[in-house]
Amino acid sequence: MAFFPHRPGSLEVICGSMFSGKSEELIRRLRLARIAHQRVQVFKPAIDTRYADEELVSHSDFRITARAVATSGEILSQVHDLTVVIGIDEVQFFDAGIVEVCNKLANQGKRVIVAGLDQDYRGRPFPPMPELMAVGEYVTKLLAVCSVCGDPANRSQRIKGGDAVVELGASDRYEARCRRHFEPEEDRQMELLNERALALRPPKRKTKPIPE
Ligand SMILES: [Zn+2]
Repeated sequence: MAFFPHRPGSLEVICGSMFSGKSEELIRRLRLARIAHQRVQVFKPAIDTRYADEELVSHSDFRITARAVATSGEILSQVHDLTVVIGIDEVQFFDAGIVEVCNKLANQGKRVIVAGLDQDYRGRPFPPMPELMAVGEYVTKLLAVCSVCGDPANRSQRIKGGDAVVELGASDRYEARCRRHFEPEEDRQMELLNERALALRPPKRKTKPIPE
């Protein structure tokens, strides 16, 4: 007689600012599932082409194969019956239907793990993350390190141009910042950068007068 383990299904949300290690944490959980011989499928939004098309790559170069899909509906149609664990990275870039898709999959007994930015570059909640965090069983909020003071940071500071809500990739355009050093207005951002550049300049050595 075949043994079918009871799987309750669940939704895990990993969120935080840029450079908080969301992708690493997602990949870590997916790798553990693989080690446990569970069937894993991984998805990411098709617009995320910053690294490889079929690989999910974290900033520290952990990688796992992922299917790039354009809509949340595509995820639902591509999940195999035998799949136990589903990972979704950059989930904030999917349409609002992603909430229902995650719920449906979890209701089918699958373990759904999603990772995404919880705030945009102005520090506003990034839809559909608030909804996912509300309906999920487990929420892990990761903190980065403030690039100004080194304190724990949960905001993504945009440091160069562009109008997109959060532009993709390009670690050179964003920094993690704490509440105190987060500055959503661009003029002020440039001032802060200049101040920091000045502060980083090595101080002039005072030369001691040579005693006679
Ligand atoms: Zn700070």
